[in-house]
Amino acid sequence: QCLLTYLGYDPGGIDGLDGQKTRQAIRDFQTAENLGVDGVAGEQTAIRLKDAVWQDRFAKDNIVPSSGQPPDLPDWWSKYKWFAPSEFRCPCGKCGGGIEKMHEGIVAEANALREYLGVPIVIVPPDGHSGGSGYRCQSYNDSLAGSVKNSRHVQGKAVDIITRGVPDEKVEARLAQRKAAGKIRYWYRISPGAHHMDIE
Ligand SMILES: [Zn+2]
Ligand SMILES: [Zn+2]
Repeated sequence: QCLLTYLGYDPGGIDGLDGQKTRQAIRDFQTAENLGVDGVAGEQTAIRLKDAVWQDRFAKDNIVPSSGQPPDLPDWWSKYKWFAPSEFRCPCGKCGGGIEKMHEGIVAEANALREYLGVPIVIVPPDGHSGGSGYRCQSYNDSLAGSVKNSRHVQGKAVDIITRGVPDEKVEARLAQRKAAGKIRYWYRISPGAHHMDIE
């Protein structure tokens, strides 16, 4: 209940009771995070709650901007317990977020890296414009200094990840290993604590 309240959901007072409002707040959270919706705070919901708090992924940010309705997303999203689809949205505020354009392979790699590092990873920060990147629509991509037109972000095949509290060497050893295994196509360090990675 504390965590739900902090994130801007309404569990109806922090009384430790599992009332109707609490179940509805859990349902709202599960819907926003593309989890199975049952109103019960099971293991996957609890995991996602902790990551959401760590990443300041508030209820108001957990919507797809301007599209009105969240897009119908393929079932494979539910396999990746560490990330909500909204974390990969284009932050321009005009294109509707484009998360339906994300490819499973890169979401799987981000999820596996989160699992491996054992600490939350930020893709698109709450303010949208301070480092991370998932999907980018063409016009947002082209507005970024130094971006290339045919960026894999525009294809939904790249993420820029922000890792705090992990040495870059550890992140990079892992990325090099995934590249050698043919799982990722290319990666580079953007700045300390921030890396780009993409898939074929
Ligand atoms: Zn956009
Ligand atoms: Zn990138």
